[in-house]
Amino acid sequence: MKITSEDRTVTAPDAGTGAPAAVRIEDVAVRFRTKKRDVTALSDVSVDVAMGEFVAIVGPSGCGKSTLLKLVAGLLKPSGGVVRLRGEQVTGPRHDIGYVFQRAALLEWRSARRNILLQAEMRRMPAAQARERAARLIEMTGLGGFEDALPHELSGGMQQRVALCRALLHEPPVLLMDEPFGALDALTREQMNVELNRIWRETGTTILLVTHSIAEAVYLADRVVVMTPRPGTVEEIIDVGLPAERDYAATMARPEFARATRRIRDLLGAESAHD
Ligand code: ADP
Ligand code: MG
Repeated sequence: MKITSEDRTVTAPDAGTGAPAAVRIEDVAVRFRTKKRDVTALSDVSVDVAMGEFVAIVGPSGCGKSTLLKLVAGLLKPSGGVVRLRGEQVTGPRHDIGYVFQRAALLEWRSARRNILLQAEMRRMPAAQARERAARLIEMTGLGGFEDALPHELSGGMQQRVALCRALLHEPPVLLMDEPFGALDALTREQMNVELNRIWRETGTTILLVTHSIAEAVYLADRVVVMTPRPGTVEEIIDVGLPAERDYAATMARPEFARATRRIRDLLGAESAHD
């Protein structure tokens, strides 16, 4: 099955093309054992993400969203089930991913450019290639002119752009984002959403985004995974059904947008009523 939306073609994981899913999460469970108590963070979670697809994950606090991203990155081992990245079982930290967190976590003494190049140093990329790629990302994210600024000289939005450039420097096929815009003001957040949509279309990167914002999830994603409270499991997966290229205001006014946000709000609202 091919899902074609304007100029992008997403190959669904079950397509008979032999292409593996970008991410395949199969019956995953995670239990944390601490001295005080055992916590089942995730139970029975299965999600497939196609190459080039944008999937958002929403759910109440503590339902295991960050845990799920850590599993995909290989930073955490599941207690049960299997995670595959591009067909290969994840057994340890993976280099073919990029990771963006809520806080940009930049080194205060390094310029924007040198914070981005940190990725190249960690991965021993050839210096010339890394510099060229950094220059292109700086251009793409609108950081031109701020390459030599230190983090404290940059706004929150610009710091997150630097973190995004750093996460994309090694051209990872899969980008994981954990509430990346949660600390930004509403207007900056909107601008970052518009830019992320463009970057996603331009780079073809597969993206998994955890967010608390239903509007952000629907504006950005092909599909939205709605999770239940702990132990987190998949409650429903919503097909957004919007074209890949999304003008902000026009998208918000579309019936698909209203339908998807309403469904997600109903699911999350119904859950908090049980709390
Ligand atoms: P979310 O990102 O959805 O808010 P998390 O994935 O951070 O949720 O956490 C899910 C649950 O697992 C929470 O109850 C949290 O307290 C617990 N948890 C997360 N990491 C650990 C850990 N390293 N040790 C023990 N418990 C943890
Ligand atoms: Mg979290």
